[in-house]
Amino acid sequence: MTEVLSYLSLGSNMGDREGYLRAARERLAAAPGIQVLRSSPLYHTRPVGKTDQAWFLNQVVEVKTNLRPEELLATCQRIEEALGRVRHERWGPRTLDIDILTYGTLQSDDPHLTLPHPRMLERAFVLVPLAAIAPEMQIAGKTVRKYLAALPSEELDGVVPYRPRGEGSNADV
Ligand code: AMP
Repeated sequence: MTEVLSYLSLGSNMGDREGYLRAARERLAAAPGIQVLRSSPLYHTRPVGKTDQAWFLNQVVEVKTNLRPEELLATCQRIEEALGRVRHERWGPRTLDIDILTYGTLQSDDPHLTLPHPRMLERAFVLVPLAAIAPEMQIAGKTVRKYLAALPSEELDGVVPYRPRGEGSNADV
């Protein structure tokens, strides 16, 4: 069966954000048909759009998969559902978001699964972690490094390396 390289964006802005991302990586690695090859560092990122909410932790992971695109999406959505709810009160907002950035070189404008992810090329919270592990990957004829270099500095200011513990920690931002 054909194996395809795919990049996934993980994000969390509630509760134990680092724990949610770790659990997501573990569940992806344990899922049939998915092999996690590499993970970017974690970044603190300013929320985009609805700005009156906590900063996110974001990361990109590189996976190899023999799942079809819709099966990969369904697996990501199952992991979001399993981890992405606050269980101690009532069903709360999602604590984990997983987006498929790319699936090989597949292009799709299906709203259920649009590939490459339509907003990824404007978002520093995607491009900074993606460039950390796949700077030379080509999307629509340009490298990730080039897309990143084209972002305005205000965008880049909203993405800072995550320092989890000890002096200089920004874990509680
Ligand atoms: P969100 O809750 O913002 O992550 O959006 C989830 C919705 O986006 C789902 O209905 C998906 O079917 C759809 N979607 C479209 N393209 C993608 C993609 N590349 N990765 C993840 N979800 C996608």
